[in-house]
Amino acid sequence: MADLGLLASAARDAVLLAARVCRHVQRDLDRVRSITKDDKSPVTVADFASQAVVAHSLTHGLTSGAGSICLVAEEASEFLRDPAHATHLAAAVSAVHTVLPDLSPDDVLAAIDLGAGRPHPNGFWTLDPIDGTKGFLRNQQYAVSLSYIQKGSPVVGALACPNLSIDPAAPVETPDAIGSLYVAVAGQGVLEASGDESAAPRRLRRAGPSAPLRICASVEAAHSSADDTDRILDHLGQAREPVRLDSQAKYAVVARGQADAYLRMPTRKSYVERIWDHAAGSLIATEAGCLVTDIRGHPLDFSHGRGLEANSGIVCAEPTVHARVIEAIRVLGIGAA
Ligand code: AMP
Ligand code: MG
Repeated sequence: MADLGLLASAARDAVLLAARVCRHVQRDLDRVRSITKDDKSPVTVADFASQAVVAHSLTHGLTSGAGSICLVAEEASEFLRDPAHATHLAAAVSAVHTVLPDLSPDDVLAAIDLGAGRPHPNGFWTLDPIDGTKGFLRNQQYAVSLSYIQKGSPVVGALACPNLSIDPAAPVETPDAIGSLYVAVAGQGVLEASGDESAAPRRLRRAGPSAPLRICASVEAAHSSADDTDRILDHLGQAREPVRLDSQAKYAVVARGQADAYLRMPTRKSYVERIWDHAAGSLIATEAGCLVTDIRGHPLDFSHGRGLEANSGIVCAEPTVHARVIEAIRVLGIGAA
């Protein structure tokens, strides 16, 4: 049986290091764009660099570099190995060097490929090196998200939110200079710290709902149905517009009581949520005392490979609000076959 405390500590170190890399690329967006001659390249470069740093750090933290870990991550090195993308490789290696200066380009490519593992019932890691890529490009919210999954459930979750202030009163639209960090272990709670770990971590335990309710949702219209969210809010007698932010920072915002619910209403039946978009965040919210299910009220099932094949959409909320939202979805016939 894995020592979850040890895994959580290695996961925290890995996402903190990757968050520093992401910040570095973000400060340099224009220069990266101009050398790679591609508008979206900063996120590509930061994605690869973040994955390399997490994979390398995790392997070294857990096995001292001598063993291997099972990591299921979003990116593969194929793109960077193409000679036509040499400028992207150089930019990714240079970003990695801000925290791991000894890695060669081959080391970086090999570290990225550590993420090519397959989900295993006995346990595996899943990583989204930059969750909320659109938020990253807008210099708004994004996250580095890492989780260890055992027997179909996340048991460790580490989420670095480089632009999310630890102060819940700060507006989420304004990028913070320090950011925040969340680390959860199943059955043992969740700790919140500032991105520079300057203060002692704080245990999150969310309070009851606020009145009127505060709901959060995706910025991207394609990722969640705004119409269905409006219908649910109407049904609950809520007039307030949802707060919109990218990435799993939404789970953190609900976990710490800044919002009462995160609704992710499917825009089409065929979309299957990716495990790395929800593993760390859902554990963090659960360990703070929230309920996280799909829109039918079913628990999230991480035992189906890279996708949440058995689920549809997400409802993460304070428990009394969760019950009201699931009931509203049922009464309104949302997502019914
Ligand atoms: P968010 O920042 O919460 O809007 O979510 C970002 C994530 O949405 C990305 O990591 C994608 O994996 C995921 N995504 C992409 N297309 C869709 C879609 N049609 N519905 C829901 N999620 C999506
Ligand atoms: Mg993502």
